[in-house]
Amino acid sequence: MTFAESFVVDVDGLDALVQVLIQRGYETKGPTVHDGAVVPGPITGVREFPRGVRDEQAPGRYRLGKGDERLFAWAVGPGSWKADFFPANQVEWRAHTSEGALSFAEVGTASTPLAIIGARPCELAAIEVFDRVLGEGAHPDPRYVTRRDTCFMVVVECAVPAGTCFCSSMGTGPDVKSGFDIALSELSDADGHRFLARAGSSHGADVLAAIPHALASELDLRARLESLEHAEASMGRHLETEGLAELLARNIEHPRWSDVAERCLSCANCTMVCPTCFCSDVLDISELSGALERRRVWSSCFDLDHSYLHGGAVRSSTSSRYRQWMTHKLSTWWDQFDTSGCVGCGRCVTWCPVSIDITEEVEAIVRTDGAARVTVPTSRSDS
Ligand code: SF4
Ligand code: SF4
Repeated sequence: MTFAESFVVDVDGLDALVQVLIQRGYETKGPTVHDGAVVPGPITGVREFPRGVRDEQAPGRYRLGKGDERLFAWAVGPGSWKADFFPANQVEWRAHTSEGALSFAEVGTASTPLAIIGARPCELAAIEVFDRVLGEGAHPDPRYVTRRDTCFMVVVECAVPAGTCFCSSMGTGPDVKSGFDIALSELSDADGHRFLARAGSSHGADVLAAIPHALASELDLRARLESLEHAEASMGRHLETEGLAELLARNIEHPRWSDVAERCLSCANCTMVCPTCFCSDVLDISELSGALERRRVWSSCFDLDHSYLHGGAVRSSTSSRYRQWMTHKLSTWWDQFDTSGCVGCGRCVTWCPVSIDITEEVEAIVRTDGAARVTVPTSRSDS
């Protein structure tokens, strides 16, 4: 089996893939339906995948409906895989104090390796963004690195994007080229319901060899390309990225920041659902028993306290917080990590309670590039 070859696997073969990964000691997770949404969850077989489910997504709107026989005819839901590598609430260290002596307890990493079956291409791209934030640099997070290095990744290419998706603008989908162990494309046509499978690593080739498979035909390969072309053509949104980082940098006092602040609730939903947002806070907990604990918890640049420096918040106005969020994603992330901080998943658009759409906000600034400047309030005194 070579990485260039494609194979056909049927639905039973996909179930066998899950079983092989379980037998090899992985904690297997994939998309599941929970509380009316497609979210990551434990998977023990094909029966847990969202078979026959469609989604409808628009700014501020998400609904599940009835689909066809396919298992992956939906786009990303509110939960992303970042929680599996960067938990929302994680113990950093534990200690105990007794009679003046302080002792620290070891905080371990999850010992069971994770297998993700059914991440979408934009979600893999988001994890790769996270790799630069937590896995590289002068101080990589060892727990992140261990979790990531031992992860087995099965990506399913997108056939049915949502109305809020724009991964093709960001170069992160609907197809996947690298970074996976196995890539699948779900096909459902006159030739039947099946998956086209490619190995992207020796681990992936080994697992693929262990499940029932057949060499893909020219017709199968063409069906995959047609499915991807259709997905790209039906992408709900578009973002022009050429020159965008520079455009935002020269419009930091554009009147649109005040306009969006009139609508934005500063609720932080967009940052919680975003698969690349990585702001965190530190909580120190001490109990009368002498037990001490430090926790890292998700935070948001929309929280007033997040920019608190001695005497007050640096970004006290909603306009300054929205501007920080959007310009970091699309402009200064390039300076910091040499990549975009947005993968075009559309979650922030779907899950904004007042339907603020990042692509629309960018477009408004593009249309009026260099518009009359306004001062965006930042410090307490000018808010
Ligand atoms: S843009 Fe929307 S989701 Fe984000 S903080 Fe504002 S109101 Fe909340
Ligand atoms: S900014 Fe919005 S569209 Fe971009 S990755 Fe985050 S949630 Fe997805």
